[in-house]
Amino acid sequence: MLLDHPRPVEDSPLRLEDLPTPTPRPGEIRVRVRCCGLCHTDLHTVEGDLQLPKLPVVPGHQIVGIVDALGPGTHILEKGDRVGIAWLHSTDNQCDYCRRGLENLCDDAQFTGYHVDGGYAEYTVVDENYAYRIPEVFSDENAAPLLCAGIIGYRSYRLSGVRPGQRLGLYGFGASAHLVLQFARHQGCDVYVFTRTAIHRELAQHLGAAWVGSAEDTPPQPLDAAIIFAPAGALVPQALRVLRKAGTLALAGITMSSIPPLDYSLLYQERVIRSVANSTRQDAREFLQLAAQVPLQTEVEIFELEQANQALQALKRSQIKAAGVLRM
Ligand SMILES: [Zn+2]
Ligand SMILES: [Zn+2]
Repeated sequence: MLLDHPRPVEDSPLRLEDLPTPTPRPGEIRVRVRCCGLCHTDLHTVEGDLQLPKLPVVPGHQIVGIVDALGPGTHILEKGDRVGIAWLHSTDNQCDYCRRGLENLCDDAQFTGYHVDGGYAEYTVVDENYAYRIPEVFSDENAAPLLCAGIIGYRSYRLSGVRPGQRLGLYGFGASAHLVLQFARHQGCDVYVFTRTAIHRELAQHLGAAWVGSAEDTPPQPLDAAIIFAPAGALVPQALRVLRKAGTLALAGITMSSIPPLDYSLLYQERVIRSVANSTRQDAREFLQLAAQVPLQTEVEIFELEQANQALQALKRSQIKAAGVLRM
């Protein structure tokens, strides 16, 4: 499914197009895509909330598929291996950030379904160093949401600094939060979920949230850390209000509406606000292993590739309970 010009998903901007099957270049593998998860970033791409470096572009960056061709010089993966491809498509491996273990911030990073064609397609190619083996415990469809929702959720969880036994708040409850909730509970945290959407509240309760309410509500206890997944800056003061001294508020979104003026007292006492941007290959590998150990249960709603427009419309209207996946 190809995007020629960004516009609202209600106008069905993605169209089906027969593209030539890509040939893997040196170091690359070709993957026959089995399914691809839907992400809010796809919505921001398709609707043009993000500046698009490539048009037309095939969106999608939570790809699960089978290696079906090897470029010259590949030596890690074999034909027939099941792999995942995530948002980080390549880095320069040499800038200051890459050398500091922050390749997620690489000056020259390329992102899947953004700088290069992604997974709303039958085939895609990637450098074999940027593909991950998928643990057997997950089906294709269940693995797809792990590749962005899961990995970004994991990095956000790590950067929130929450420790086992502490209280973690989650603002917005979709694909990422429903995985972080399970992961955090597995680590012994109590999870407090702030969402207005009825289907999301139900799912949060079902997955064992200690408390579920709205952003305006005050939970019975102050929180040690919180993560905002919703792209709403107005949530920042709301979340700081219920955060303990020295607590960290992590912002997981790639875009966010303006943050309203903050009373300094909300931030004082060494509270920290930090954003989370992209993820490293190390995050991906660590997370996939941990996800299999838990094992995380991904709630998925499946759409056919041709229904990509309708699937994104459902995502925009919060009609998808947890994670949406396109099947090829
Ligand atoms: Zn770099
Ligand atoms: Zn994503």
